[in-house]
Amino acid sequence: MNWILENHMEFEHELKIAKEAVKRASQLCASVQSRISSVAQLDKVDKSPVTVADYGAQALVLRHLAKAFPKDPAVGEEDTGELRQAENAALLSTIINEVQKIDPSMDRESILASIDRGGHSGGPKGRFWTLDPIDGTKGFLRGQQYAVALALIIDGEVVLGVLGCPNLPLDSDTSNSETGSLLYAVKGQGAFQAPLSDLAAASPVSCDRISDPSLAVFCESVESGHTAHGRSAKIAELLGSRSRPFRMDSQCKYAAVSRGQASIYLRLPTRPGYEEKIWDHAAGFIILLEAGGKISDTIGQPLDFSLGRTLKQNKGIVATSSGVFDSVVQATKETA
Ligand code: AMP
Ligand code: MG
Repeated sequence: MNWILENHMEFEHELKIAKEAVKRASQLCASVQSRISSVAQLDKVDKSPVTVADYGAQALVLRHLAKAFPKDPAVGEEDTGELRQAENAALLSTIINEVQKIDPSMDRESILASIDRGGHSGGPKGRFWTLDPIDGTKGFLRGQQYAVALALIIDGEVVLGVLGCPNLPLDSDTSNSETGSLLYAVKGQGAFQAPLSDLAAASPVSCDRISDPSLAVFCESVESGHTAHGRSAKIAELLGSRSRPFRMDSQCKYAAVSRGQASIYLRLPTRPGYEEKIWDHAAGFIILLEAGGKISDTIGQPLDFSLGRTLKQNKGIVATSSGVFDSVVQATKETA
């Protein structure tokens, strides 16, 4: 019976391919991150490991998608403009080396071509994927949280999302839990988490059910350039929340709210004119909604993924469990 039901799930094939693609990219990122251990390297502000992992992860994901869905375009964060220049030959050979450890069938040309499949402009019509090969690059460099984020958008609507979180413990309550989570959702089918090491061992996730915002736990970016920390402290005060927000890089914050580990994720603009990128939110957005959460921008408008590569009509993000959403939007508006 289950077998029959599962075979008729909408986007079943897309989900399977997307999970595999994100798992491969997560493996590449984890392998590269494990080698940026020395503080000396961080002191030099050496961005090359993140560059290798960014390009390598985008090549692996877009190649895997292209094989299964050759007609689907993609909106990816990276392109090969700089990578094709002679002075970056050494960087390109490191990328080829890392990619081939995961997919030996890929060569220089297929790696460059796959990365360049990410150049689509998005928009309101048709079907496309959106990919952030490493979301939270600052966290990646610090040896902390980051995510490989992939989503499918059809006619401007996010219908599927997968988040690979190689450093996220599966169980936030136990300190000795396995690290490496994959979260995913298809519209109308709920949200799930599986260990990155065993995608078949999935279980449902859901947001918390609190309705008293004074009990809410906040999460926000580590980087003060990405969200206004002072304003979120004011919102917490208005809501009577006394717990300190926990700070984490990347769309792992969507994972935290979707698992009930936090109730509120705020992203409060630090400067006028910044447009949130669709790849920074699409996967987390659908996972959160399917986990029972609610989301809007900071003035209560729905997020609009149909306008190209950015959420150009939105200002920041308010993502919460459903019982506290209205109070949080209200408090956010009061601090504008
Ligand atoms: P986080 O790890 O949540 O702080 O977010 C990482 C993402 O922040 C990156 O993928 C960037 O696309 C994005 N970002 C860069 N600059 C800004 C900014 N000024 N405001 C908001 N997000 C930004
Ligand atoms: Mg990002």
